[in-house]
Formats: sequence, structure tokens, C-alpha cells
Amino acid sequence: MKVLNKNKLPAVFDKLAQQSELFVPLQKKEQSGFYSWKSFDQASDQLALDLLNVYLPPKQVLLPQTEKMYSFRQEEGGVAISEVYEESQARVIFGIRACDLQAINCLDQAFLTRGFVDEYYKARRDNTTIVASACYKPGANCFCSSMGVDPLEPAGADAIIRDTGSEFFIWEARTPAGEELSRQLAEYLEEKELPLPQSQAFERQVDMEGVAEKLSQVFSSPLWEELSDACQTCGICTYLCPSCYCFDIQVKNQGEAGYRFRCWDSCMYGEYTMMAGGHNPRASATERFRNRFLHKLEFFNERYGMPLCTGCGRCIIACPAGIDISKIITAAKEADWSA
Ligand code: SF4
Ligand code: SF4
Repeated sequence: MKVLNKNKLPAVFDKLAQQSELFVPLQKKEQSGFYSWKSFDQASDQLALDLLNVYLPPKQVLLPQTEKMYSFRQEEGGVAISEVYEESQARVIFGIRACDLQAINCLDQAFLTRGFVDEYYKARRDNTTIVASACYKPGANCFCSSMGVDPLEPAGADAIIRDTGSEFFIWEARTPAGEELSRQLAEYLEEKELPLPQSQAFERQVDMEGVAEKLSQVFSSPLWEELSDACQTCGICTYLCPSCYCFDIQVKNQGEAGYRFRCWDSCMYGEYTMMAGGHNPRASATERFRNRFLHKLEFFNERYGMPLCTGCGRCIIACPAGIDISKIITAAKEADWSA
């Protein structure tokens, strides 16, 4: 088998960063997330490959929090598009966990299938190579295995690293793009036989059997009031979610020219569904809360055959009101919604 010595990682990253924009998990002061390797500050940052799932998910690599879409200029006889900002430079995401990779698989469904292609997303996605890190010790808030994710075999990875607990990662290429990375990194990969790590059991589990079907029948249940009672509609759950993809499109005018941009939005905000005429189909916090869980657990599943929750546990950790999606799933399953 091929193995990679951990002390060679900085050299490996330097090499990958020569040819691509490389994103790795970093701890930057109190914040952890996937950042460009070029931003690594040896004095204050730490490589966070051993953190399970970093605080900020890697979705911004493919769907930036804010992105310019195109510029325009008023000309005689109309408006001309002067520049379209599609980013097609090669990217590598190194060290992503299976839950976050499954979230990218969900984004792929939303942005690339069913006759609709988001060209901005596609330009990045087509040029992104993914090195996933297998998880052998789930965290207290992890429940990916209940959501159909295999933490040991991240689906869609071009290559997988496995932390053996020694000074080596096992390196496995899984696709032609992964093989290409193996070739690029040949000078750093060694042949060595090592035992696979032992995987540990999940503390947190939910039973998803029949949940989507049950939720499809309870849209008008008063139980949603009870479940949503503590929600402050702060939206942090949606910003930290690796699979939430709501965005708003706005325009910035500068005289006769300007540009259009999009930025993340949250379905938990009242303005999200506010219409120009003043009507809001999801005016109350309860309606927005219900929509969030129905979208994740029922609507997306119905349309794409997979839930829009991958069990990463970030929203459980971050919610200021202590709302726990794994408990909502259990409540949805066990409740008598007819009351
Ligand atoms: S939810 Fe699963 S894949 Fe994600 S960090 Fe935890 S164990 Fe790993
Ligand atoms: S983080 Fe909690 S309080 Fe904030 S919007 Fe999400 S569920 Fe509501």
C-alpha cells in the first residue's frame, strides 16, 4: 500500500498549491475551517487534519459566501454584459470528511441535475479534486452513519487518506484524478504495509426509517409550534450547514455600469420569502422552522433520493437554543401528529 509520512505534509501542500488552489483544514485562532494553503501563517495557524469536522464547512470552496456573477454597462440601445465571472482554476480540497463530501454530493444534485446547470458552480466543481479523510473515531455529535454516509469510505472522493495513528497516512487513489495526484506526489509516497485503524462506534444514532414518509403527512400539525418554540431564527444552523445552499441575488449599480452578485441567505430569515407586494408565505418562525426540516428530511429526499442532512452535527453544536436535529428526527418519528 502507499503511505504518506505526516512530516511531509507541508512539502506536499506546497507542491499541490503550485498547480492548484489548495484548501486544507486550518485552525485560525478560535476559528477552524477550510482555508487556502496560501493563507497559512506558521506563527498563528495550525493544520487541523485531526479535527473531525472543522467549524466552517468546505462548501464555500464551491459556493462562495459572496460572488460576483457578471458586470454590465448601459450602452446605446440596451445593456451589455461586459464580463462573466466564472472561476475555473484547478482546486484541491484536502482532508474533507465523508459527511462534508456527501454535502457536496447534495450540492451537485441541486446545481447540476434535473435539466438545470448553475454555470458558476459547475466551473468550480469540474476543476475540483477531492482528497477525503476517513473517520475512525466519530465525535459526540456525529451521526453520519444514520444518514446513509459511510465515514470510512467517503463517497465521491478522488483519493482517501487514513490516519493510522502512527506517523503515516495510508494513501488510496480512487479515480483518474486521484491517480494523477498520486503521480504528482510520487516523491512523497512510500510503499509500506500498515494495519488499518480500528473504527469506533457512534454515540449518536437516529432511525431514519419512514421519517420522510411520516413528515409528508404532517404539514399542518400543531406539533411544529412546540418543536420550534425555542428557535431564535438566528440562521447560524444554515450558515454552518455543509449542504444548505440558499442564496440571494443582488445588484450593485455604479452610474451606468454595475454588477450582479449573489450571497448566502438563510431560509430561517423572515425576509427570505418576502415578496415585493408585501406578502410573505413563511412569515412566522414556526413556518420557517418547519420548512427547514421538511426540506432537509422530506422534500430533498423526494426529489433527489437522499436527505439534505449528512449528520455532521455542526448545527447541534452551534444552535444557541439547543435545537438538535437528531432529536427532531426522533420526535418526528415517534410523535402522534394527529393530535
Ligand atoms: S459526521 Fe461522520 S464523516 Fe463527519 S466528522 Fe463525524 S464521523 Fe466523520
Ligand atoms: S441555530 Fe437554532 S435558534 Fe438559530 S435558526 Fe437554527 S434552529 Fe433556530
